[in-house]
Amino acid sequence: MTKAAEYIKEWLAKRGFSAKIYEYQRGKPNVVARVGSGKPVLILNGHTDVVPPGDVGKWTVPPFSGKIVEGRIYGRGSTDMKGGLAVIMAAFADIAPAVEKAGAGSLVLAATADEEVGGHAGVEALVKDGVLSGDAAIVAEPSGPDKYCIGEKGLSQVKLVARGKPAHGSLPLLGENAIVKLIKAVEEASKIVDEINRGIALPRDLAEAVENSARLYLESALRSGLRLSEEDFRKVIGSVSFNPGVIRGGSKINMVPDYAELELDMRVPPGVSPKDVVERLRKGLAGLAEVEAIDTSEPNYTPSGERIVGLVREGIAAQGMRPKPIIMTGATDGRYLRMRGIPTVIYGPGELTLAHTYDEYVSVEDLVLTYNTIIYTIKKYFNIS
Ligand SMILES: [Zn+2]
Repeated sequence: MTKAAEYIKEWLAKRGFSAKIYEYQRGKPNVVARVGSGKPVLILNGHTDVVPPGDVGKWTVPPFSGKIVEGRIYGRGSTDMKGGLAVIMAAFADIAPAVEKAGAGSLVLAATADEEVGGHAGVEALVKDGVLSGDAAIVAEPSGPDKYCIGEKGLSQVKLVARGKPAHGSLPLLGENAIVKLIKAVEEASKIVDEINRGIALPRDLAEAVENSARLYLESALRSGLRLSEEDFRKVIGSVSFNPGVIRGGSKINMVPDYAELELDMRVPPGVSPKDVVERLRKGLAGLAEVEAIDTSEPNYTPSGERIVGLVREGIAAQGMRPKPIIMTGATDGRYLRMRGIPTVIYGPGELTLAHTYDEYVSVEDLVLTYNTIIYTIKKYFNIS
């Protein structure tokens, strides 16, 4: 991340832009450059960190080579999201003089750290510090050139803890088995989540995005041979998902366990409060298991009537594509901006399904199309002809 930040700072300096480094955690510098003055402020954001390459032997090209084969740039981070970062850097450098000259507001470029592990030392810290504030934002995570993401699910991660009474395994009636209690608790928790899901009314604004996303996830599932329907995906995107991810408990086969725990990952759609989900479980599981919140974050979306949404849509159409809004099941740094009331659109080159995979790539065509859309959007946003 440090090397990437230095590179970006130098790259900008060569083109006559000064950038500031904000390092809230050592080794995780954020680069912020700004041109123009006053309002409105449009933020272009991308993250510099990538996930590790994994088993290098499973790559057909070296993961940090950036090799171009048949119009595709291969490498770890190409899709997620060095490609997007390159696009917004180029867009910033190319359009900044016009923004300054027009005196129509401020354009901010923020190349941030830490996204892959939660963004706490990156966008979250910059927003809290007041460095990043504005009237609209584009986060160039991989949406693909014809799609733009207007919302994402929130998070409700909890630990269920069941306690019992130890006894010898040959006389279980003398004890109280924490594992058996925990199993009952998980079944009950699943019923409670089903009940919550029956009462969900998604914001109408998101209907089109849910449809599009369901189709996209289905296409990729069918490619990997899974037999699922569009309706299955519509359901999982539009409701609270339920995934027990970790289970621990007991110490010996011949003992009645007095402790067992399970970590449960639930993703909640806009319209549902993650903290409410925790409370409902707490009440419903009383006597079976204690419920501790591990992490919660609010689902969020930008209404389709926001100007930035309309402009990105127009920009995509101007490149001859049919614009499709989508919603993501995972979280991006966009949530920190939305939580500060900044209308935010996720739009950039690449494919979400390629992120974090072997032989990750981004197509050159995607880079060009998204660059053109973003330039279009910036021009319209500042009324530059
Ligand atoms: Zn990313």
